[in-house]
Amino acid sequence: MVNLVIKPIAEVVDEDRINRKMEEYLSEMLRRARPIGDGLFIIDEPTGRATPSLLSYDCIVKSLIRLRLGTITNMDGLRNLARGRAIHDLYQEWFKVANPRIHVEVESGVETADTSGRADILYMREFDGEEIWGLIELKSSWNLHEEREQRYLRQIAAYILMLRDAGITIREAYLVTMRDVKSIPITTLLRRYNSVLNELKSLESFQGWPVKPPNPLLCVRCELRPICNTYAIYRSNKAFSENAY
Ligand code: SF4
Repeated sequence: MVNLVIKPIAEVVDEDRINRKMEEYLSEMLRRARPIGDGLFIIDEPTGRATPSLLSYDCIVKSLIRLRLGTITNMDGLRNLARGRAIHDLYQEWFKVANPRIHVEVESGVETADTSGRADILYMREFDGEEIWGLIELKSSWNLHEEREQRYLRQIAAYILMLRDAGITIREAYLVTMRDVKSIPITTLLRRYNSVLNELKSLESFQGWPVKPPNPLLCVRCELRPICNTYAIYRSNKAFSENAY
């Protein structure tokens, strides 16, 4: 029997190392980023394929923008992405060392006929003579409020369903954040989110842009406002209805 060693990120990854690696990644990203005005950069091109990572966004229009135009963000967003990447690398490195008898794959590509994505950590361990496959999703958040946690759980459900299609049955799954390790009850998760892959496909086939932001309050602090068609449509409809009175 091989036990799993799994801990919250902040317990095993040092903040100084995160900051040093983050600066390296930030310079690398800035070298490749393309400025498009309004303090925004395109940092990767669109693939046109919906991946489970799109489920982690707080606004579906952000997912559509990423799907159709690529990853676009401002300097703060770049710093967050660089920090997230540094945290992923350092935790994955620690996890391999802490679990020497477990088969570990990091950033493992999962391809199915309809969808593709990358699981943060996929592992296989022996338990009572059986091979147990597990999945770990890493998030660089300190606090998980309920709505954010639901988004991350949908993302995990999508990976589990994709892996099942690829012939791997995930028996244990964890959501690991800066200060928490949450074990996910897989049967309940899949019962709740069994249509999540269809939702991803419908994102791909969605035509045009929603005419109203799902949550206009989010737009107030959203860096994508200058290029967001939904926000532009919403503003002009609002101005029109205000002028009509
Ligand atoms: S501006 Fe509003 S609708 Fe557009 S991506 Fe941002 S939060 Fe979503």
